[in-house]
Amino acid sequence: MSRQVVTRFAPSPTGMLHIGGVRTALFCWLFARRHGGRFILRIEDTDLSRSTDDNIRIIEEGMAWCGLTWDEGPVVGDPSQWKGPHGPYRQMQRMDLYRTKIQELLDKGLAYRCRCSREALDERRKAVEAAGKVFQYNRGLDAGKGCAEAGHDASQPAAIRFRMPKGGDIVVPDLIKGETHFPADSLDDWIIARTGEGPGEIGVPTYNFCVVVDDTHMEVTHVIRGDDHLNNTPKQIPLFEALGYELPAFAHVPMILGADGAKLSKRHGATSITEYQAMGLLPSAVRLALARLSWTPKIDGKAVESAEEELLTDEQMIQLFDLADCQKSAARF
Ligand code: GLU
Repeated sequence: MSRQVVTRFAPSPTGMLHIGGVRTALFCWLFARRHGGRFILRIEDTDLSRSTDDNIRIIEEGMAWCGLTWDEGPVVGDPSQWKGPHGPYRQMQRMDLYRTKIQELLDKGLAYRCRCSREALDERRKAVEAAGKVFQYNRGLDAGKGCAEAGHDASQPAAIRFRMPKGGDIVVPDLIKGETHFPADSLDDWIIARTGEGPGEIGVPTYNFCVVVDDTHMEVTHVIRGDDHLNNTPKQIPLFEALGYELPAFAHVPMILGADGAKLSKRHGATSITEYQAMGLLPSAVRLALARLSWTPKIDGKAVESAEEELLTDEQMIQLFDLADCQKSAARF
């Protein structure tokens, strides 16, 4: 790869900083450090009803405590509040860029205005499902009647949908999981911007849209994220293409489960980094424990075995880190 490696951790500030997220951030950080690249923190705060400034502060503090410092960000806000050399990126501060890109897609006919209300969609969904079929927006089930063909203008409030390709497979290449194939016809024309306040207004863009624009404009070379996002990647790939963007490399890391195999939650004990901090644990010990949960370092091609070898320093972790040595399936805590 000729470009400088850039990775990012992109949490939504909708709650505590979960250790599963910290493990993902750690992999992004290790990978960037291993390749002399840059690591970005991007706050995905477009879910206005659930994002709070308090949660952003918790994320910044948790990252800083864990030593996962980020290398760049916009020069905004009060520097005395920053937990890294810069404030992190915040998506709500990037609306102009997203709206420009959405307009570009509308102008090219690669996206369209959808005036269907939630109630109307629910009704159609019920009717289609009653006939034993799967409802998908603009998949021919109501051909000729959908907003995809209507060519609505901006005179009424509308959501914006992306015109997904039809037919064939969308292939997701992944540095950990290998290739996954998704039939294109199993994917809807998805909403890239919510309904705006007034006629012509483009509402707040959705996660899958912002992530593609940001990953490109922030020059991210490797998208390393939890595998709960694997199903989103086939939606994002055609959007990268429609916007004329180069695809980054993808690596979806497995979830962390509790010892009983269920999703790691409160009932398994401490799950937020703030709780680990409060227990008086050493950040370096937390880093090593989280890294080793789903990564088997290899020295000269051989998995580390002895207790001595397992006590890796940060420098050793950075030197040895390789996505190819991460496990494909969920780790148990
Ligand atoms: N904001 C997403 C989340 O918190 C992560 C998105 C991504 O890494 O692409 O789950």
